[in-house]
Amino acid sequence: MSHTILRGGLVLDVGAGTAEPADILIEGDMIRELGPPGCPAPEGAAEVSAARRLLHPGLVNAHTHGHGNLAKGMGDCWTLELLLAAAPWITGNRSTEDKYLSTQLGAVEMVLKGCTACYDLSFEWPLPTAEGLAQAAQAYADVGMRAVVAPMVADRSFYEAIPGLLDALPPPLQERVTELRLPPAEVTLPAIRAALRGWSSDRERVRPAVAPTIPHHCSDAFISGCAELAREFDVGLHSHVAESKVQAVTGVRVYGHTQTAHLDTLGVLGPHFTVAHGVWLDEDDLARLGDKGASVAHNPGSNMRLGSGLADARAMLERRVNLGIGTDGANCADNQNMYEAMRLASFVSKVQGPDWWRWLSTREAALAATEGGARALGFAGKIGRIAPGYKADIVMLDLDHPNWLPFNDPVNQLVHCEDGTAVASVMIGGRLVVDNRRVITVDLARLRDRVAAARERLAIANAESRRLYEALEPVVGSHCPGLARTPYHIHRHGARLE
Ligand SMILES: [Zn+2]
Repeated sequence: MSHTILRGGLVLDVGAGTAEPADILIEGDMIRELGPPGCPAPEGAAEVSAARRLLHPGLVNAHTHGHGNLAKGMGDCWTLELLLAAAPWITGNRSTEDKYLSTQLGAVEMVLKGCTACYDLSFEWPLPTAEGLAQAAQAYADVGMRAVVAPMVADRSFYEAIPGLLDALPPPLQERVTELRLPPAEVTLPAIRAALRGWSSDRERVRPAVAPTIPHHCSDAFISGCAELAREFDVGLHSHVAESKVQAVTGVRVYGHTQTAHLDTLGVLGPHFTVAHGVWLDEDDLARLGDKGASVAHNPGSNMRLGSGLADARAMLERRVNLGIGTDGANCADNQNMYEAMRLASFVSKVQGPDWWRWLSTREAALAATEGGARALGFAGKIGRIAPGYKADIVMLDLDHPNWLPFNDPVNQLVHCEDGTAVASVMIGGRLVVDNRRVITVDLARLRDRVAAARERLAIANAESRRLYEALEPVVGSHCPGLARTPYHIHRHGARLE
C-alpha cells in the first residue's frame, strides 16, 4: 500500500471551528492518521509540503447538471419555466462525445474551485442510454473526481406537465411541441435498468442514481418505477421538488396537495431521497422529509438567478432535514463554484428576517457543503471530513493569498472570504488532481479546442430550436408567471391555494 504524508499544514475541523497544525498520513486513498507536526512516517512515504496551507475537506456539490456546462451563459432573464422551454435549443443535438465534454468541463471547473464530489443529474434526449451515462462517469473518472451520476428522466413533456400551457399555444406551436413528447415509462424504465445493471465504474468513485426530474413531469407509475429501481440497485433518488412557485401551485392543482405529500403517498421518501431546491416546501413537507431522513440540496445561486425564491435552510435544519448545498447546472447558475454557493447559502438565510439567531451560520453552511452533501450522495462517513478512515479528499488553500490575510477565523473566512482563487492544490482519494493551481489530470488545451468545436457545431444544429424557443417565449413567459401569481400560502399544516 502506498503512503503519502502531508506535512506542515493547518487542518480544518469544520464542526469544531478550529484549524490546528497536523501532518496527515494517507494510506492508499484513505486518511490513516493525523499526527503532530514532524511525526514519523512509514519508510518510502511520499512527502508533500503543505506549509502555509489551510487543509479543508473537499467540498461536495449536492446538485448539478453535467450537460449544463456547454450551455453556460446562454440565457439571462429566464425563469425556471423559460429555461425548460429553452432546453431543446441549449442542450439539443448532443452527441455522446458532447456528453463527455460537457461533463468533463464542469468537473475541471469544480476541482479548480475546491470541490471534490458532486451529484450530477444528467440529461439525454429522448431517454438515457448506458453509453451516455458511462461517458459521463468516464469524464469524472478521467478528471479524478468523485460523483453520483443520475439519469434525469420524465415521461411527460414540459408542455404536458404545466396546466393550461398547451391550450395557450397557437395551433402551429402546439404541433411543434408535440415533437417534444417523451417516450413512455415502458421504454425509459428498462433503459435505466440496463444502465444500472451494466454500471462498470468503481462505485467508490462514480456511482449511479435515478432522478425523476420533477414530480408532475412524471406519471405516478413512472415515479414508482424509478423508486423501485433505486431500491433494487441500492442507489439514490433525486428530484426537483417545490423549486419554483409554478411548480408548487401546479403540485397542489394536479395532486390536491403538495408535491412532497404526494411523493410520500407513493412511498418514495427515505434516507436515499434528495429534494433539489425545496424553496416552496411547507412545514408538513419539511416534517415528512426530516422524519424520513431525506436530504435537501439547497441551491441559493440558481434560486436567485431563476427568480425561484429564497429557500429557508433554518426551517430545514429545525425539521432535521439533512442539508446539502449545490451550484445547480451551469445552464442556470452559471458557474460551478461551491465557495460561492456556501457564501450565498449564508447570505440568503440572513435576508429572511431580523431574527439573527435563526440565520444560517458559516459553520452550518460549511457543514452542509461537506458532511451534509456527503450524506446526500450516499458517502456519509467516507467523505466530508479530514479524519482517520475518511477518503483523502483534501483541498489546500494558500494562506498567503489576500483572502486569508489576516487570518482571523478559519470557518468564517472559508465561507465568506474564499472564492476559489486561493485554491493551490486538490487531492482526491490520495491523488493530486490540482497542483500549483493547475489541473494535472486532463489536457486543458485539448479540452478547450474540443469545447470550441462542439459549440460551433451545436449552434448550427440547434438554430431551428432557438427559433422555436423565440416563438414560445412570449406564451410561456406570460402563461407561467400567471400561474405564479396564484395566491399560495405556506401554512403550518399544508400549503393551499386561494
Ligand atoms: Zn437542477
